[in-house]
Amino acid sequence: MSQTAPISNQTKRWQEMDAAHHLHPFTTHKDLAAKGARVITHAEGVYLYDSEGNRLIDGMAGLWCVQVGYGREELAQAGYKALKELSYYNNFFQTTNPYVAELSEKLAEVCPAGIDRFFFANSGSEGNDSAVKIIRYFWNLQGKPNKKLFIARKKAYHGVTMVAASLSGLTHMHPQADLPLPGFHHVDCPDWFAEGGDMTPEEYGLKTARSLEEKILELGAENVAAFVAEPIQGAGGLIIPPKGYWEEIQRICRKYDVLLHVDEVICGFGRTGKWFGSDTFGIEPDMINMAKGLSSGYQPIAAVGLGKRVGDAVFNSDNEWSHGFTYSGHPVAAAVALANLELMQKEKLVEKAGGATGSYFQKKLSELADHPLVGQTRGVGLLGAIELVKDKKNRTKFESDLDAGTRCRNHCFSNGLIMRAIGDTMVLSPPLTITEGEMDELFALARKCIDLTAKDLGVA
Ligand SMILES: *Cc1c(COP(=O)(O)O)cnc(C)c1O
Repeated sequence: MSQTAPISNQTKRWQEMDAAHHLHPFTTHKDLAAKGARVITHAEGVYLYDSEGNRLIDGMAGLWCVQVGYGREELAQAGYKALKELSYYNNFFQTTNPYVAELSEKLAEVCPAGIDRFFFANSGSEGNDSAVKIIRYFWNLQGKPNKKLFIARKKAYHGVTMVAASLSGLTHMHPQADLPLPGFHHVDCPDWFAEGGDMTPEEYGLKTARSLEEKILELGAENVAAFVAEPIQGAGGLIIPPKGYWEEIQRICRKYDVLLHVDEVICGFGRTGKWFGSDTFGIEPDMINMAKGLSSGYQPIAAVGLGKRVGDAVFNSDNEWSHGFTYSGHPVAAAVALANLELMQKEKLVEKAGGATGSYFQKKLSELADHPLVGQTRGVGLLGAIELVKDKKNRTKFESDLDAGTRCRNHCFSNGLIMRAIGDTMVLSPPLTITEGEMDELFALARKCIDLTAKDLGVA
């Protein structure tokens, strides 16, 4: 922990219990045990509070998920009501519940055109795992059992289960579990800032889109089941595809009859200024995966949405579909997700992310581009990235052992801001409810922390 003041006995006690018994996601446990975990005890609006009374403005909406902000009464009440009336029952054995039926209809209303049947899971990873099983089943039903290979992209993040991690293209996720599994391939992604060289972003976008076509031809179109991709790559460093990229991808998928499964786990639910990233980029997916913003993180819930082609095949089959979780369509999670979507509609949060809130956020973000340490700012809706570089002109990065991104992130923590570092790319994804005043505070802190990082690195 970066605080200098002595910490309370209660905090110390929680840190000890945690260090002794809790395995954290994506964590080096030795380092964490030495430092002691930050204990977050409550949250309200866009602010988090830790056990030492520090307030942090949450520039990441948790993990890209708290669309409606923290502590909303409407969601708490919906969860409480469902917990009292139907704390649990499953959706196996010809049964449903009112909450999941109503949520399914609501999703059909807000999802991209044609996506109107939903399978529920508990996490984005399970959603992608389920999607892969659906796609394999689909091609078996079509009498094309050879179409089983999956193509995703380098730097993609699709989750951590064996299959979701195999789809993911962040290579540090693979060796510990000997992944990817056989049948999962990765092609280039449109990360122009890091890899585009002298090409224009559009040229580089087309080049990387065509790496999909090359891979399909190499594997044989008759063997390729689906292409899986996020509209904007989130955990890979907020990689925003240029104009023309998604048109070319869709042309290729149609030409070779490769299904397009779009992972909307981050881009869904207003994050890019429309309901889904597919709407923002003109994508017509065969199926989508959603989680995170679906419940604003208030309950664990995910959904795979099927378009007509795949949906009809599964719905009209005479076979029982052999898949489903104990908690698929859990009444409490469904009730909270439904209340979340209703609140987003009532407060016009998607319209605001695509309108006034999003414009103000993008304006404030672009103002950071004049900083000597900032090589580029980029964003869409309420997503933003800030590239920390050694040389602005040539997009030259700092030596990795300087840890520019981590330094900046640590300054943020110490100064009351949560901004994530992905390498030296600083990322923002605040709640959609953030006000102009709160954005002023967020960006003032961001500039201050970039200044402190520049000082550390001896720049300016
Ligand atoms: C977070 C994320 C996932 C995984 O979701 P979990 O709920 O953590 O399993 C999958 N895909 C994308 C694009 C994500 O950002």
